[in-house]
Amino acid sequence: MNSMRVLITGAAGFLGSHLCEKFLEQGAEVIGIDNFITGSPENIAHLLENPKFHFIKYNVVNFIYIPGKIDIILHFASPASPKDYLRHPIHTMKVDSIGTLNTLGLAKEKRARYVLASTSEVYGDPLEHPQKETYWGNVNPVGARSVYDEAKRFAEALTMAYFREHKIDVRIVRIFNTYGERMRIDDGRVIPSFMTKAIKGEDLEIYGDGTQTRSLCYVKDLIDAILKIATHNGIEGEIFNAGNPEEISILELAKIIIRLTNSKSKIVFKERMEDDPRRRCPDITKIKNILGWEPKIKLMDGLKITIEWFRKKLGSQ
Ligand code: NAD
Ligand code: UDP
Repeated sequence: MNSMRVLITGAAGFLGSHLCEKFLEQGAEVIGIDNFITGSPENIAHLLENPKFHFIKYNVVNFIYIPGKIDIILHFASPASPKDYLRHPIHTMKVDSIGTLNTLGLAKEKRARYVLASTSEVYGDPLEHPQKETYWGNVNPVGARSVYDEAKRFAEALTMAYFREHKIDVRIVRIFNTYGERMRIDDGRVIPSFMTKAIKGEDLEIYGDGTQTRSLCYVKDLIDAILKIATHNGIEGEIFNAGNPEEISILELAKIIIRLTNSKSKIVFKERMEDDPRRRCPDITKIKNILGWEPKIKLMDGLKITIEWFRKKLGSQ
């Protein structure tokens, strides 16, 4: 991968920063773009000394010009936490529509391969379980979450239009809940929220009765999946679920985190979030069969690593 030039949008975010690291490790030159709306300069500070890493502070909703060749574009810019996209609803719709259009246009100009970061949210509150790539989803087009769900569905449709009309080598990855180092302490997602509260001894708030489920993937596993999706030949126009099929209820997760942190925190119940998916679990047969990927890190192990990281992070504040 030594001669490869890779562009990553959302580079200063949780997943984007790990992706930049991964591609640099593989010997690629990496151009990272981010406007820091939900990401942080701290996430990429350690990469700035690497001569193969170039960072551009920019909003990809505007026309993007990059001189020279680009081999792969990974479009990861987008608020991803419900708290973030509910706070920035229009920005979210812009980056997933116009930002996707601009990055696809750049892929066409450079004849670059294109990887779209999509999401399990395209399945909405799913009626099929576990979710296969062939499932069309159950999405409320006008509910609060639609700013993310429908924007990502549009982004997928646009990506497939560039594949069909302009023969761009695209790949779509539907990412299921991923957690690990570099999640923002206050991003509101369940792992940072429960872990920081448990460490501080504050109440863990469950939205709803806690019977809703998620399937949580440790970040390093997920990044390995993205690398495979981005570098494998002959999978143009394919869509892959990527996530860990170990399904768990939110109540069980809260109890485990309290136990693993030896916390005295209590669990309190708050109102359920609008249109909150009741069950979510990926069917990963496709990515397993075609790319030979499956997660290696068990939930318990990933949680322990992440708790240690949050402890250090909170300690240094
Ligand atoms: P994140 O919020 O940590 O990172 C997103 C990054 O994009 C941030 O650094 C933000 O500043 C940047 N950004 C947003 N709008 C931008 C714009 N207009 N121009 C330039 N930069 C912009 O979120 P994340 O968890 O790293 O998610 C990354 C991608 O993966 C998103 O597209 C998200 O939808 C997708 N995804 C993530 C998960 C997950 O569990 N982490 C699950 C499903 C999908
Ligand atoms: N959740 C919760 N308490 C919190 C944060 C999240 O009960 O402090 C619940 C949320 O309602 C959802 C699940 O945990 O049912 C996962 O939420 P998250 O924001 O991590 O991501 P989502 O999968 O909903 O995008």
